Amino acid sequence: MSQTLQSFLANRWIGEQPALALKSALNGEVVAFAHHEKPDFAEAVDFARRRGVPALMALDFQQRAQRLKALALYLAERKEQLYAISHHTGATRSDSWIDIEGGNATLFSYAGIGTRELPSGNVVHEGPAIPLGKQNRFAGTHILVPRGGVAVHINAFNFPIWGMLEKFAPTFLAGMPCIIKPATSTSYLTEASVRLMLESGLLPEGSLQLVIGSTHDLLDQLQGQDVVTFTGSADTAAKLRVHPNLIRNSVPFNAEADSLNCAILAPDVTPEHEEFDLFVKEVAKEMTTKAGQKCTAIRRVIVPYNRVEAVAERLQARLSKVIVGDPSLEGVRMGALASHDQYDDVASRVEALLSSSELLFGGANACHPLGDKSARGAFFAPTLLLSRDPLAEGGAHDIEAFGPVSTLMGYTDIDEALVLAARGKGSLVATLVTRDSVLAAKAVPALAAWHGRVHVLDAEAAPESTGHGSPLPMLKHGGPGRAGGGEELGGVRAVKHYLQRTAVQGSPTMLSAITGEFVRGGSVYESSVHPFRRYFDELKVGESLLTHRRTVTEADLVNFGCLSGDHFYMHFDEIAARESQFGKRIAHGYFVLSAAAGLFVSPGIGPVLANYGLDTLRFINPVGIGDTIHARLTCKRKIDQGKKSPDGKPQGVVAWDVEVTNQNGEVVASYDILTLVLKSE
Ligand code: NAP
Repeated sequence: MSQTLQSFLANRWIGEQPALALKSALNGEVVAFAHHEKPDFAEAVDFARRRGVPALMALDFQQRAQRLKALALYLAERKEQLYAISHHTGATRSDSWIDIEGGNATLFSYAGIGTRELPSGNVVHEGPAIPLGKQNRFAGTHILVPRGGVAVHINAFNFPIWGMLEKFAPTFLAGMPCIIKPATSTSYLTEASVRLMLESGLLPEGSLQLVIGSTHDLLDQLQGQDVVTFTGSADTAAKLRVHPNLIRNSVPFNAEADSLNCAILAPDVTPEHEEFDLFVKEVAKEMTTKAGQKCTAIRRVIVPYNRVEAVAERLQARLSKVIVGDPSLEGVRMGALASHDQYDDVASRVEALLSSSELLFGGANACHPLGDKSARGAFFAPTLLLSRDPLAEGGAHDIEAFGPVSTLMGYTDIDEALVLAARGKGSLVATLVTRDSVLAAKAVPALAAWHGRVHVLDAEAAPESTGHGSPLPMLKHGGPGRAGGGEELGGVRAVKHYLQRTAVQGSPTMLSAITGEFVRGGSVYESSVHPFRRYFDELKVGESLLTHRRTVTEADLVNFGCLSGDHFYMHFDEIAARESQFGKRIAHGYFVLSAAAGLFVSPGIGPVLANYGLDTLRFINPVGIGDTIHARLTCKRKIDQGKKSPDGKPQGVVAWDVEVTNQNGEVVASYDILTLVLKSE
C-alpha cells in the first residue's frame, strides 16, 4: 500500500504530498500516509449545499432507500478488497467482519427501514392531524423535511467502515449530504471503502465527501441547517460540543463518547447454572473481540462477593486459551490494538487502574504474540483486574482503558450492584445475567436510567442473543452522561435526527396537499369511476367513494356469530346486553368491518391486487340492530417502493382511509386499509 491517502472534497481527490505515516498495528510497517495539503473546507461545505442537496432532493425517500440497497449489494461483492487491508488495523477476520459486513448489514437494514417506513416524496407526515376547531376547518399536524444542510460525521478509529456507514445510511436516506472525517490512524480503510462507494456510481454528486487528517476550520463553516455527529473520547466530545460556531448557530451536535459499560451477575445465579458460564463467556468475548476496542465492551464486571473467586477462576481459564498474534496465522483469536499510540494509551491507563485494583491476569508486559514480526506490533494481553474498593469513586468507574481490559468488582446485594453500575456516570450498555424475572423487572428500570441499552441474558435468550456488545440498526445506540448523551441508530428514529420537524396549521384540504396524505375533513374527489378500478399512477390522494347504506339486522348478528363462532354475550345475550353500558345487543366489530368491505369493494378483477392489512383500527361507537351504516373510502397515501408483483408487474402501495358512519352521522369504525395496486405501464 504505502500510498498517500486523499480527501475527496468538492468532487475531486486532494492530496499528493505525504504527511503523517500510518503504521500497521501488526508489525509497525508504514501502510499509508495522511496528506499534507490543507483542504478548502468553505468550498467543500458550499459544494455539499449547492450540489449535494439538490442532487439528493432529485430523489425521494423511497428512491434513496433503493440506492442504499444497491450500494450494499455493490459493496458486498467487493468486500474482499476491504478485508485485504483491514488486518493492518490489528483486526482478526471476525473483527473485520463486524466492521465490513456489519457496516454493510446496516446499509441493508436502513434500505429496508426506508422502504417500509418512509413515504414517497420528501415530506414525512407525523400524523394524525389534530382538529383545532369545532367544525374541523382548521387543524394542526407535524411534518419532517430534509434540513437542506450538510452533516459532518467525525468518527473513532475502531470501526473505520461500520462507524462511517451507520451514520451515512440514515443521513443519506434523510436527503442530507455528508462530510466524513474518520480517525486518522485507520483512515486508510475508510478511504478504500469511500473509493468503492464513489466508484459504484450510485451516489449523487456531493452526497459524500471525505476528509483525511485534520478538520482545520471545517466546523467554522457550519450553519443552523447543518448537523455534527461525533464518536470518540469524552474529552474530544467535551471540546467539540462547545465549539463557538456550533453554539452560535445552534448546530445540533450528537456525541457517542467512551463508556464504562458493565455486566452484572445477579445473586440468584450459582456456578452450577448455565447462566454462570454464559456470563463468563460474554465477558471474555467482550474483552477479546476487536482486542477490546469496542465502545460497548464490558469494562466493569460486577458480581456478588461470594462469586468473585469463581468468576475470576473461570475467566482466567478462558482468557488463557486466547491466542494473540498475527490474525493471518492459524488459531489466532485476538489481534493487535489499532496503533502503537493506542498501545501506549492502554498501557498507561492500566497503570492508572492499578492504583485502585490488583492485577489478576495479563498486564502490559504479558503479551507474547504469534508471528514473525509481531514483536513490533501493538499487541496487548487480555488483562483482568480486581477492584480493591468497588464503592470508591474513580478507578474503574472513571478510567477507560480502550483495549482488552476489564475490572472485576464485588457487591453485597443487588441494590449495591445497581449503585456500582451507575458509578459509570452513564454508559452505552449493561448486561444483566439472571434467571429471576422478578429481579430483572426491578433491576432493569434502575439500570435504564443510566444506560442506553440493557441486555438481559439467560439460558432462554442465549441461543439467539446478539450479544452485549453489538449495536443493532433497529435499536437505539447511545447512552446518557459520560457516554455522550447522544442517540444513533434505532430504526427510522435515526433518519429523523437529520430531518427538521415543523408544526403546520391550516385547513384539512391544505394539510392534505402539503403532507401528501389525505387529512379527514379535507376536500375529496368523487367520480363515476370506482377508486379500486384505477391504477396506481392514475389514483389521486383524496379520491373517494361514499357507499350505499345497509341496515343491520338481528339475522346479521346471528349469521356472523355462527360463521365466526363468536357468540360473545354482547351479541347474543339479551339480558346481559341490556345490563351492559350499551343497554342493548350490538353487532360484532368485525361484522362492521366485513359489512363495510362489502359496501365499498368493486368485486371484478381490477388493479387492486391484495389487501395486506389494517392500521389504526378503532371501533368508536356501537352498532345496534336497526342501525344503518355506510362507508367512505378515500385514497389516503401512495407509496412507490419500485417493486413488482410476483409475475413481474410494477405495483405500488396504497393506504385507504375508511370511515364507517351510522344514520346519525356518527363514526362507528375508523381505520386504514393497506393494498397493493398495479401500475398502468
Ligand atoms: P478521539 O481521540 O476522541 O478521536 C475521535 C475523532 O475525533 C477522530 O476522528 C479524531 O481525529 C477527531 N478529533 C480529535 N480531536 C479533534 C478536534 N479538535 N477537532 C475535530 N476532530 C477531532 O477518540 P479515538 O481515540 O479515535 O477513539 C477512541 C474513543 O472513542 C474511546 O474512548 C471509545 O470509547 C470511543 N468510542 C465511542 C463509541 C460510541 O459509539 N460511543 C464508538 C467508538 C469509540 P484524529 O484521529 O485525526 O485525531
